[in-house]
Amino acid sequence: MRVELVTVGDELLLGDTLNGNAAWLGRRLAEHGIAVTRSVVVGDEMDVIIEAVTSALRRADAVITTGGLGPTYDDLTRDALAKAAGAALVRDPELEARLRDRAEAAGREPLPMAFRMADVPEGARPLANPAGSAPGLRVALPGGTVYALPGVPFEMRALMDTAVLPELAGRAGAPALARRTLRTAALWESEIATRLAEIEAMDGVALAYLPEPAEVKIRITAAPDRLPSVEARVRELLGPAVYGADGETLDRVVHRLLADRSATVATAESLTGGLIGAALTEMPGSSATYAGGVVAYATELKERLLGVPSGLLTANGAVHPDVAAAMAAGVRDRLGATYGVAVTGVAGPDPQDARPVGTVYIAVAGPGAAPSVVAPRLPLPGTGPQTRPAIRRMTVVHALDLLRRVMLGCEEGERGTKSGCDREERS
Ligand code: ATP
Ligand code: MG
Repeated sequence: MRVELVTVGDELLLGDTLNGNAAWLGRRLAEHGIAVTRSVVVGDEMDVIIEAVTSALRRADAVITTGGLGPTYDDLTRDALAKAAGAALVRDPELEARLRDRAEAAGREPLPMAFRMADVPEGARPLANPAGSAPGLRVALPGGTVYALPGVPFEMRALMDTAVLPELAGRAGAPALARRTLRTAALWESEIATRLAEIEAMDGVALAYLPEPAEVKIRITAAPDRLPSVEARVRELLGPAVYGADGETLDRVVHRLLADRSATVATAESLTGGLIGAALTEMPGSSATYAGGVVAYATELKERLLGVPSGLLTANGAVHPDVAAAMAAGVRDRLGATYGVAVTGVAGPDPQDARPVGTVYIAVAGPGAAPSVVAPRLPLPGTGPQTRPAIRRMTVVHALDLLRRVMLGCEEGERGTKSGCDREERS
């Protein structure tokens, strides 16, 4: 079963819109063991759309298109598919009635142009759109089936899941290969690859490394019956650096660990300016786990709002491990949270208090003894304008990861080495 994608839209070619539809479709199909063998982007031009779809069907069994199904005259996918099928466009009375109902429900008179969305190439089947106006289309062409989906991402996703995947998954049969993505924080790609040498050497197992700031996702591909044992071995080799799998993001994992303990966290941020608080409030229900935060950017506020001793600040400047620890303890205490997370550092582009760009101290204060403090090793991506956002982003990841490790009791020792805390908490 081979599927090709044709995403339609001038905005994609012009770079105004990122092709999120192709990315999402690729992931979704892979989850169902269906290989996308080619993906092309075309503009809003009838002949180009026809050529892309018909040539895709010479290679693949099915083609999924997105975009160009709307009511305006730059929406040409419907016309292109009718032309490719040599079929007339016929107005579908049911679709027409649905469009009228939707317009009425929204208190508008439907414009004549809107009824273009009720036109269906003769012999094709409309796919009901649960999330919007433009229906999708299933068109049988010589060589295979075309599933035409709207461009609006949430409509496209809804239609894919309700109308297309059930049919494609039925045709695809059992997948020959299964995939699992493990997520790690605070380890470098090269360290991971070194530890996983024995996995790399296994026949029939493929590893892919997907690096992001301060995180690496490791995608394991293997036969479905073999995948669980390979995954277990990878987890063993990487220890507590593995914080989750597949869609489990770090903020989600931290939220769950806090919720499991009925614990809360408060943040004291300098160089990240509130980004850690933003990450900790991503999850619905975070009011149960996030108390609040103080953005203490100015040195004086670290003293006034967080109780960092002024002697510490005058002796060492604001970028110092003891300052981070005092900020964490201070915010924990003043906001009455179970944990306090604090960061202080130099995001650049200029050094501060004689400390070089990329110097960062992170502290987590908890109910236990003294706060845990780390100075993450940040790979500096040059000294250009990208350095600052990258350092801030990496600091967020390291801070969430330290909080996770403190909760699991595995923050001691060399980071990422096995210390027995990786097994206990997995759900
Ligand atoms: P509608 O039926 O609502 O008119 P459509 O099928 O005509 O949708 P387009 O007009 O091509 O779709 O796109 C609608 C919106 O969806 C635009 O805002 C566009 O930026 C977005 N969009 C289109 N294609 C993609 C894509 N491949 N990835 C992400 N967003 C997309
Ligand atoms: Mg459009």
